[in-house]
Amino acid sequence: MKKDFKRLLVTAALPYANGPVHIGHLAGCYLPSDIYVRYQRSRQKDIKFVCGSDEHGVPITIRAMKEGITPQEVVNKYHEIIKESFRNMGISFDIYSRTSNPVHHQTSADFFRNLYDKGLFEEKETEQYYDEKAQVFLADRYITGTCPVCANPNAYGDQCEKCGSTLSPEQLINPKSTLSDAVPVKKLTKHWYFPLQQYEDWLKKWLLEEHSDWKNNVIGQCKSWLDSGLQSRAMTRDSHWGVKVPIEGAEGKVLYVWFDAPIGYISATKELTQQWGDYWCSEDTKLVHFIGKDNIVFHCIIFPAMLKAHGNFVLPENVPANEFLNIEGEKVSTSRNWAVWVHEYIADFPGCEDVLRYVLCANAPETKDNDFTWKDFQDRNNSELVAIFGNFVNRTWVLMHKLCMGKVPKLHEEKLDDTDRQMMAEFSIAKAKVEESIEQFKFREALFEVIDLARKGNKYLQEKEPWILAKNLASNPENQEGIDNCLHICLQLCANLSILINPFLPFTAKKLIYMMKVVEKMLDWENAGKTKLLSVGYSLREPQLLFRKIEDEEVAAQVEKLKAGTRESGVGSLESGVNSQKERVGSRESGVNSQIQVEEKALLKPEIVYDDFAKIDLKVGTIIAAEKVAKADKLLKLEIDLGFETRTIVSGIALHYNPEDIIGRQVVVVVNLAPRKMKGVESRGMILMAEDAAGKLHFVKPEEKVNPGAGIS
Ligand SMILES: [Zn+2]
Repeated sequence: MKKDFKRLLVTAALPYANGPVHIGHLAGCYLPSDIYVRYQRSRQKDIKFVCGSDEHGVPITIRAMKEGITPQEVVNKYHEIIKESFRNMGISFDIYSRTSNPVHHQTSADFFRNLYDKGLFEEKETEQYYDEKAQVFLADRYITGTCPVCANPNAYGDQCEKCGSTLSPEQLINPKSTLSDAVPVKKLTKHWYFPLQQYEDWLKKWLLEEHSDWKNNVIGQCKSWLDSGLQSRAMTRDSHWGVKVPIEGAEGKVLYVWFDAPIGYISATKELTQQWGDYWCSEDTKLVHFIGKDNIVFHCIIFPAMLKAHGNFVLPENVPANEFLNIEGEKVSTSRNWAVWVHEYIADFPGCEDVLRYVLCANAPETKDNDFTWKDFQDRNNSELVAIFGNFVNRTWVLMHKLCMGKVPKLHEEKLDDTDRQMMAEFSIAKAKVEESIEQFKFREALFEVIDLARKGNKYLQEKEPWILAKNLASNPENQEGIDNCLHICLQLCANLSILINPFLPFTAKKLIYMMKVVEKMLDWENAGKTKLLSVGYSLREPQLLFRKIEDEEVAAQVEKLKAGTRESGVGSLESGVNSQKERVGSRESGVNSQIQVEEKALLKPEIVYDDFAKIDLKVGTIIAAEKVAKADKLLKLEIDLGFETRTIVSGIALHYNPEDIIGRQVVVVVNLAPRKMKGVESRGMILMAEDAAGKLHFVKPEEKVNPGAGIS
């Protein structure tokens, strides 16, 4: 059923404020939703994108108890870390709220009260386990004891992890509370149950007939829940942390976290705009929930049933849930720290946010669980982003500056051949394909279309060989028309690429906009497919580096960090000294094409002011000792005499120099670089190196010997 929707409301699952977010979270729902939203925004759709931290629930109170702080302190800490991770990764929520906000408490309480007043809840008194020492009711998970099946002494009240048996606390031998070691006792408690079975027929029709077009993994899970029959579910808990149950006689009880969390989408929208009712209560709104597969039952069965029972709100039009992303062949485990944390990635790979976005989208678990490996991360960066996309843009820019005076050359229509026309026709073909894939939530497919268009650009450039035409320009002046046509088309292609890549890699699109000297408005989706986006004669900026190569040491360090399971927030074991050194001397996008070598030049970084330069403290030092670093092919550990002190610096030059050959050499050192640990050795500074065309590194040194510690300015 195709409906014409006036506006869109997109939600991404509320992350639980009990820890930071990892890349599995990003790949699961935040990146896909952001791509979808950025695409719809560029089509000028009326759209709101809401999310926030889920700050209630028993695990947060337990964590607070264990750390001796308040639940509010727990959520305050993680809310900020999570919010910042999303912001840094370019996840463009219109609002990132939190469920501890008063507006959320009010909205959830009203929602509960609405159902309560209609008499929709069942009130039941049951016996539950209670810890008299800690004075809390215990969820099954917080009771441990000996497994009756395998005698494992550390089985949980819901499951034995050793033999896999599903258990109930009654079955445990010698049960005790994990909070206080007290023996749990049974105590009567009253709760309010939502009778899901009453919505079963309606859900079957709504899901399996009216929304049979949803993703297979989603419909499959829903069907299995519906087939096994729905039951009443308690929507309240005994706790002091959460939304208080808004009825008399419910002291000490709060709403079940899965009752109030999805209502968080409504309260966040309320907080965002006074027109929130347009998005939630109007039939011509298309509501889309992006989630991971562990949330399917809550978003496709429980929440829709709640919304249906309430009656004032729209129901989701689609719930495109992703499967899980494994890391290096193993399931993510936050307790074992088997995860790649987003805030650590950002610290370890500054400026590479789009690389992670790219890899996670290219490898997204859209239809089945998928695997993230650092090797694949490196390969996709080096052989797709750098060698295809970055390379095409860079070649176009460098050639245009060299052969067309840095301006958009004229298009000589009469000289166009079939290859030119075919290349231009590809723009709108690609646009249509990307559009179709995104509308069906097939983001991988959409992304590959964009990369494929860049690949076609490289092929076109290779066929046209404007650098060969340029060589014979003196004898054949009409060659200039061929050069102009080729680069005109390549530049229009770059403009198209910036529009098409924008939903996926927004930071890259921004760089392209800057290089083209055009306004952001050019990224409007309707401009994609057009062949005259850049005006003839318009002068463009020098090329910027879109992507840098990722080195073996960098990914090796990440794998090591993962295996070591260390979690030094913010200071990764990345060997960034080696890297930034390469960047400094003008690294380039890998020259996959030897024909183009002659046109290549070191890419320039953006202009800086003197104050930026003055922050870098450069001094001359003398190497007084050098040795290889164990288990690191490329690293030398150097002792540098700086006059005022001697320092240890680790440098990635072992493939270029023998340790014994460099004793006594003078070098230039960045002395105020923050210390970094590499292979267990703390490196305090960085040595400047020049890289020649063959990739060999050479020391930068004063022309004649100067005293160690001499400043450089
Ligand atoms: Zn067992």
